[in-house]
Amino acid sequence: MDTGPGRTQSLYRKYRPETFAGGELVGQDHVRDTLRNAIANGRVSHAYLFCGPRGTGKTTTARLLAKAVNCLDPEPANRPCNVCEACVAINQGRATDIIEIDAASNRGIEDIRDLREQVKYAPAQLRHKFYIIDEAHRLTRDAFNAFLKTLEEPPPNTTFVLATTDPDELLETVASRCQRFDFHRIPAEQMALRVRTVCEQEGIEIDDEALSIVIRQSTGSLRDALSLIDMLATATSEDKTIDAGLTRKMLGLSQDERTLTVIEAILERDLTLGLQTINDALDSGQDMRAFGRQILAALRLLMLCRAGANPAEADGALRELATRFELPELLRINREFSEIDFAIRHGGFPQLPIELAFVAAIVGDSATVQAAPQPAQVTPARRPEPSRPEQRASAPPQRQPEPRAAQPAQPAREPIPIRREEREQSPAREPAASAPQPPASTPEPRPSGAATASVQMVVERWPEVRTEVKAADRKVEALLASCDPYSIIDGTLFLIAAYPFHASKLNEDRNRQTIEDAVERVLQQRLTISTGLRGELPDAPDEGGPPSGGTGDSNATPQTPPRQVRDDGANASDSNDGYDASEAEDDEQERAAAREEHQVIERMKAIFNGEEIDIDELQIDGGSSS
Ligand SMILES: [Zn+2]
Repeated sequence: MDTGPGRTQSLYRKYRPETFAGGELVGQDHVRDTLRNAIANGRVSHAYLFCGPRGTGKTTTARLLAKAVNCLDPEPANRPCNVCEACVAINQGRATDIIEIDAASNRGIEDIRDLREQVKYAPAQLRHKFYIIDEAHRLTRDAFNAFLKTLEEPPPNTTFVLATTDPDELLETVASRCQRFDFHRIPAEQMALRVRTVCEQEGIEIDDEALSIVIRQSTGSLRDALSLIDMLATATSEDKTIDAGLTRKMLGLSQDERTLTVIEAILERDLTLGLQTINDALDSGQDMRAFGRQILAALRLLMLCRAGANPAEADGALRELATRFELPELLRINREFSEIDFAIRHGGFPQLPIELAFVAAIVGDSATVQAAPQPAQVTPARRPEPSRPEQRASAPPQRQPEPRAAQPAQPAREPIPIRREEREQSPAREPAASAPQPPASTPEPRPSGAATASVQMVVERWPEVRTEVKAADRKVEALLASCDPYSIIDGTLFLIAAYPFHASKLNEDRNRQTIEDAVERVLQQRLTISTGLRGELPDAPDEGGPPSGGTGDSNATPQTPPRQVRDDGANASDSNDGYDASEAEDDEQERAAAREEHQVIERMKAIFNGEEIDIDELQIDGGSSS
């Protein structure tokens, strides 16, 4: 491969678009068209704000704009022509009227200080002066204020372009004086096309798989993609094709690859591979919340692809992967992973929620059905339980061939009396897609009243509750910012707080009532609110513990490992009466549940020690389906 004379410049610089035409500026057609119009009509703004992820062409576009505005070609549509005196001067970096400032550098800060002085002077050479301020969000407040004065009285024949990856960091007064353009991540297909073109022109051979790894890695940034190609081309000996093996080796098994490996492991039902990948991620210092979110993002794309929504971010590999799943299955898996963020934040083992969601995704419905009896044991006195054989018989197959996806579209907004029973009653249905079910099932014969909300339901509607609380009392709402719904037991909704201060404030009668009123307005149910710290709160096995995606039971586990033996009384007994009555019984049941869950954890540990186990063995009591 040619690493010699021709390759003194990075590919990104070398193939930087020289003109608005010809598809060189990839993936930003909306920006390009609007700017070309402005140039053609002579309506160029005094200030632009270019927002978007790195490597999507913000600075490049700013330079193109500067060139086009100064181009001497008589035909506006041809600008920039790249042959006139002005274009050539700019291309060669000789144009002193195009001033680029990197706000992130020390030099940039000084430059901004000078800017107010310099800005008074008319362009020296060109018709129109351009200030291109990169990483504009890094400007200090003082620099912004100084800059604001300039923007308020813009000098003639001068345009400012602020480029930023983080527009929210800009002063609103500055941002509002700019015409804003949002640059998008470049869709995978367009990026592949562009990278392919560059490779061909450079005589770099790259196979399809390697290319798609590069595209995935660069997450919509053309600069990243071309930098990776640079690196790979340098590492490849002459006349050799860049292949997937080399690419993986060079890039390491990255976050993105791990994400796909976990998803493929779900597909292949390969517990060992998936759990090891999760553990590798942890060992290599990867942030588990970020990893969890990335898995969820990929699962979401798969679901969209499978549903025919054609998301631009999805590349060929993801699209292909999507065809290998059934849609209902993807819905269910998405649900499994959708709430792990919460669990990672509050749990003692950051990797565990991912592991459990992963195992649940594989063990699937069989686990769901398996786990269902367990909560029932916890409160046998209160809840009539269908016999086990029935449940077994009604166990849905793990990979449901059901083609329809209509049900999930219905918003599951109404209180669902008991999710578990719902599942049992309609086993053929996609479990994740639990649409509102007429409460035909046995109504909850609770002594304390109609506490039928599930904690999942509360979590789903928590933003609405927060809004209601905010309307009533902003301070209480602010306290809620560091709290999450944790469990529901006998009409008491337990909130988990990050700090003792928040817990004690929220437990004050007035504040508690404010939240209770809000909950009642949203859920049409009166729940007692009790707030505590992690470790103080009772788990609620019958509600599936902390929220998670729709399969209330597989989630009882995420919270489990450092399982709290209930601290009798502390939070629970003061706020509800139904609790004490069956307390002893509950405790026994809870201990039993804890023992069973402990077995699952032990099983998973065995996997990490290299001892492979059978999926069916993972199921607590024997396993029913295949
Ligand atoms: Zn020109």
